[in-house]
Amino acid sequence: MYPPPPQNLRKLNRLASNRDRGPALLSVVVPCFNEEAVIRETHLRLVATLETVPDLDFEIVYVDDGSHDATLNLLRGLQHADARVRVLALSRNFGHQMAVTAGLQHVAGHVVVLIDADLQDPPEVIPEMLARWHTGVDVAYGVRTKRDGETRFKRWTASAFYRLLDCITDISIPLDTGDFRLMDRTVVDAFLAMPERDRFVRGMVAWTGFRQESVPYQRAARSAGETKWPLRKMLRFATDGIVSFSLAPLRLATWLGFVVSGLALAGIVYALVLRLFTAVWVSGWTSLLIAVLFLGGVQLLMLGILGEYVGRIYGEMKRRPLYLVKERLGFTSMSRPPHPHFRDDTNPSDS
Ligand code: UDP
Ligand code: MG
Repeated sequence: MYPPPPQNLRKLNRLASNRDRGPALLSVVVPCFNEEAVIRETHLRLVATLETVPDLDFEIVYVDDGSHDATLNLLRGLQHADARVRVLALSRNFGHQMAVTAGLQHVAGHVVVLIDADLQDPPEVIPEMLARWHTGVDVAYGVRTKRDGETRFKRWTASAFYRLLDCITDISIPLDTGDFRLMDRTVVDAFLAMPERDRFVRGMVAWTGFRQESVPYQRAARSAGETKWPLRKMLRFATDGIVSFSLAPLRLATWLGFVVSGLALAGIVYALVLRLFTAVWVSGWTSLLIAVLFLGGVQLLMLGILGEYVGRIYGEMKRRPLYLVKERLGFTSMSRPPHPHFRDDTNPSDS
């Protein structure tokens, strides 16, 4: 009469998902954009950490997001030296979130980890995430307890952004998380089944549900190189997060409409009362001009917000591929074919 209790479901799922059957295959996705200064060290630390985990096979999928330094060459070298390395080179810079999507579309693992190339997310946390996965957790996301080497401005804006997002979206995106996380294959498939262009990865993963747990870690300073996120990109990213997950900005128009109409009504009553019951006229250009400018401002603002949503509808309508690949290295025929929900945008020849 009742559905089986969740523990049983969990157990069944676990049996079905390879977590307890033989060595698991872990895929690590590393988006790289101009990371020549750090990529070799990242690789060494990743391999050193993963090799200590018993009963684990792994592959590392480096996604070169159109770097214009030596990153791609270095990656080719790493692939040449180590058959567990795969390299996916995008045809230009498509941005971090697309690079991550491209990587996820090419992984073969039962379980996948997303990690930045700059060692800000310490690879040493991965075994802890894997341990959670073995207990049945589907998403183990890193939560930053300390952020070294980031400006107070960045920390403050990031914290304000996550709190705002939490207030105005229907789904709960955990505070202070980045994209450093482990995901079960089920979650990766769910993520890839979402065809949208504005890919706010951490929000989309939160949206999928399943069992998600946080793993606290200290965010280190960038090991070398500099951040690829200027303020402009950060603002764009924040707008993506809000617009993809919330209609609150559109509703703002309604609320502003109420407030402004209320004020106008009060003004009318005030003016009438003065006119009818006293000898005073309401006078003055200033108040008139302020009212006109205020209304003009509010209307332009709301038009802009509307434009954000319309622009995104336009982008979705064009149905362009999300990214283009110019080179794939190290993918064997064993690797999974690209996900059917995405158009295959490249020639499938493996090198
Ligand atoms: N990245 C990318 N494409 C971009 C920008 C960044 O693939 O257009 C990668 C970058 O190489 C790094 C990760 O995304 O591995 C995070 O970028 P970054 O460290 O610059 O961001 P921050 O840590 O400052 O937020
Ligand atoms: Mg970084």
